[in-house]
Order: sequence, then C-alpha cells, then structure tokens
Amino acid sequence: MSRAYNFCAGPATLPESVLVQARDEMLDWRGTGMSVMEMSHRGDAFVEIAETAEKDVRELAGISDDYAVLFMQGGASSQFSTIPLNLLGDKTSADYVNTGIWSTKAIAEARRYGNVNVVASSEGNGFTSIPDQASWQTSADAAYLHYTPNETIGGLEFDFVPDSAGVPLVADMSSTMLSRPVDVSKFGLIYAGAQKNIGPSGLVVVIIRKDLLGKARKETPTMMNYQVIADNGSMYNTPATYSWYLAGLVFKWLKAQGGVKAMGEINRRKAEKLYGFIDANEFYVNPIDPRSRSWMNIPFILRDEALNNAFLEGANARGLLNLAGHRSVGGMRASIYNAMPEAGVDSLIQYMTEFAKERG
Ligand SMILES: *Cc1c(COP(=O)(O)O)cnc(C)c1O
Repeated sequence: MSRAYNFCAGPATLPESVLVQARDEMLDWRGTGMSVMEMSHRGDAFVEIAETAEKDVRELAGISDDYAVLFMQGGASSQFSTIPLNLLGDKTSADYVNTGIWSTKAIAEARRYGNVNVVASSEGNGFTSIPDQASWQTSADAAYLHYTPNETIGGLEFDFVPDSAGVPLVADMSSTMLSRPVDVSKFGLIYAGAQKNIGPSGLVVVIIRKDLLGKARKETPTMMNYQVIADNGSMYNTPATYSWYLAGLVFKWLKAQGGVKAMGEINRRKAEKLYGFIDANEFYVNPIDPRSRSWMNIPFILRDEALNNAFLEGANARGLLNLAGHRSVGGMRASIYNAMPEAGVDSLIQYMTEFAKERG
C-alpha cells in the first residue's frame, strides 16, 4: 500500500522522510541497542536527543536566551489552565480575543481562575473575520492578552500580530507554529500542541519569556508550574520521550527544507492555489474574510450539501483522506500543514475539479 495524502487537522501528516528515519532507527538508535522509546530520559543518549531538539527549534524559530523552551504534556488544552495559574500573578484579570472554538475553550478555562475580559469577538458573524484591533476594549491592568493566531476548526487566521501595549502577549500557535517566520520577541508566551505541525501528540511546546517564570499561584499543581518545569529541563517527571524525539526529527527536516522562511513561501503558495481554485469554482464555497484566511486549515462547503458523502467517498478512493470538516461545523476541511506536499494540494484540486464537472 502506498501512502495517501492525509488532510487530517490533527494528529496530522508527518514528513515521509521523518517516518522512514524513525522506522530505520526503531530497533537500535545509533548503535545503542535500544529504541528511543526504551531509553532512560536521563541517560546520555536521550539527553542528547532532547538538547538537540531544543537547539534546533531555537534556531528555526529565532528564540533568544531571554526565553525558556519547555517540552510539556497534556496537549494545548492543559495550557488553557496552566497559563492563568502561572501568569495571573497578583492581578485579577486577563484579556482574551474570541475568534472561534479554540479561543472559546481557552476563555472558559481561564474563567475558573480569574476575571476574563473578552476584548473582542467575531462570534456575531460566525467567526468568519478577525475583529479590527482599533475596536478592542483592552484593559491596562490585565495580566496578559491571549489570542489564537490560527483557529484550526474555523480556518480563520490573524494576518497581524496584535499590539498588546506592554502587556505580555500569549498565543496558542498549535496549528501555525513553524509554518512561517514569527518575531518571537513580541510574545510573552507561545504554546503549541505538537500534533499539527511539530510531531506526534503527547507533547506541547511552550516558549516563555523568562521574566514570566516564578509567578505561579500557590495552589498550582507542580506539574503545571512553568518555573519547576524550566528548572528541571522539562524532566521533572518522565517526559513524552518518543514524541520529543520525533519532534527533533521534524525540526531537522524543516532545517533541510530551508527553515521557516522557505516553508512560509511554500505554505503561502499551497494556500493561494487552493483558495484560488475554490473562489473560481461555483461548486465550492469558503466563507472566511479573504484577509483572514488560514494557510493551514482550509474549510469549504459544497453548494449542494447532499453530495457530501459522495465527495468524501470519492476522495477516500483516491487516497485523499480525512477531508470531513470538524464535527461541530460540518462541510469539508483540508489541513495543509508543513508536511503536506504541494503535490497533495494539486491532487486535491484535480479531484475537486473532476467531481464538480461530474456532479455540477
Ligand atoms: C488542536 C488545537 C488545540 C487542542 O490541542 P490538544 O493538544 O488536543 O489539547 C488547541 N488549540 C488549537 C489552536 C488547536 O489547533
């Protein structure tokens, strides 16, 4: 069986060469006689794997020594509570922008720990645009400003980095991390669940400005205390070793592709191709404000929704997998992260063209 093109939103497709390398190293990692899965996280071999991954992600994303890079567990969702527990400090409120399902979840969780001021929301138009920053009602005494640069489910993405006016800026980059260059120095904290653009699930990468460490509330679980995790090199307990190792292979692969700048150009081209096709074809619709369309997750609906099942069956038969939209929104969604080759997008467009011709 040959590999299909997998458009799943997450866990998502990984670079084929990374999987081949992992297979080749599976039984015996570089003459150690062990699989990475079987190694002590404190042994020399794994420590080297872990340190190399951190060095590579720092280089790729341009992360300075003012920031700690943490390899945590519990997915991006556990960060929804970890962030307020650690960053509220002696403040009582935080600002949040609501642009879709993931920001809504982050807001609900933060409300358990403090006052959440929703500074702007695009709920009124079904989360199809990003609220203009001039209209945001931010508060000067907020502990931080949280936003979701790319809403994975809605396919809605910021085309700018908000100006947080000196308040630490916190970003859930789960589905956009390393997809293009980002100026990390504008952020207080960036977090990303690995299973979209970084590696397998089980790992969440947290990039935190060091002056924000050490403010956790007394009742914060030790495992959620950024200071403790930083002081212990993300090995306070047993980390997600295999996911960390695979993330390291993905970082090496990204460097070989020319880094995030080259990746950003490829990703822009892939997205423009697919949106261009959808906009030009009467049969398909994408409802998002063109300025704020995601490069990573491209939702679309068939004008005749009665054809949804036929569309998905035909796609599966061609090895174009996981194109159904999120269960909460329906329709279709093509997730085209870093590891989706341009040929996969071409193949999808070819299929969509033929399907529209036959059924339109
Ligand atoms: C996938 C995703 C999450 C949730 O990630 P988990 O690792 O499943 O908790 C949160 N935010 C965004 C933007 C996502 O894409």
